[in-house]
Amino acid sequence: MDRRFALMIEPAPEALSDYAGTFAVVDASAPALSVGELSTQRGDGVFESIGVVDGHAQEVEPHLQRLAHSAQLCELPDPNLAQWRAAVAIAARNCPAGESVIKLILSRGVEKGPAPTAWVTAAPAGDFTAARTGGIKVVTLDRGYDSGAAERSPWLLLGAKTLSYAVNMAALREARRRGADDAIFVTTDGVVLEAPTASLILRFGDRFVTPAPHGGILQGTTQLSLFSHLEEQGFETAYETVPTEDLAAADQAWLVSSVRLAAPITAIDDTRLTLDSAFTAGLNAYLLSPRD
Ligand code: PLP
Repeated sequence: MDRRFALMIEPAPEALSDYAGTFAVVDASAPALSVGELSTQRGDGVFESIGVVDGHAQEVEPHLQRLAHSAQLCELPDPNLAQWRAAVAIAARNCPAGESVIKLILSRGVEKGPAPTAWVTAAPAGDFTAARTGGIKVVTLDRGYDSGAAERSPWLLLGAKTLSYAVNMAALREARRRGADDAIFVTTDGVVLEAPTASLILRFGDRFVTPAPHGGILQGTTQLSLFSHLEEQGFETAYETVPTEDLAAADQAWLVSSVRLAAPITAIDDTRLTLDSAFTAGLNAYLLSPRD
């Protein structure tokens, strides 16, 4: 049985009390997009991946805010957030027990077409138990830009979650070629950024540090949520410019993202890191609890 669910969203410019008439549930296993779609031709659009646990979509508002921010950076029309919120609620109701992923996609639409194309999908999530408990090995990869690139060249869209993820996927393949599970991008001038599909959190004693988001990286919703959780537990958190050589000095580190959640890092290049299983289990228990 195909357990995927898909919903196409029609443009709805006005505030409505009920958006039901602006969605069409489509057969998730059947073709639904026009061949003229700019999302498939050019990766021209933005997206979000939202974790779902037992039918509860996690951190919907931060994801919607980031969708709106990415749309603004790409000069797409402002998404109608009330409509997207309603679509996410329908998708979440169609998720089975356990972990799922809801994707929101907003593309520039069909070439020369009148409006963007928007759709939502829901599907069971993969099994990330091995990464969450056994940890992952990562390698640093030069992203090829210096730390001023995002500010100097905003058209690179470095802080937007765009559909153009071919480079990120290529970086993951390169990491695997080098015998690792994942990668951490660094700038040409030696500043730590993020992973191709996750944020990095480093632990130095009781201080948790993530690379400052102004360096052309995506502000992660999972990292944000974990920082508030860690602060509630009395830990110090900080956004900093992290030089590449500081990676080796971290006591522990994690790649964190909405669906894989917290994957502890056991090695960065040739440096081995300690895996604190109990602490990591606590982080993932928090991430699996209902969060708004
Ligand atoms: N950075 C990049 C480049 C990503 O693609 C992602 C998620 O896909 C993240 C960070 C983590 O974001 P989030 O925690 O909101 O899933």
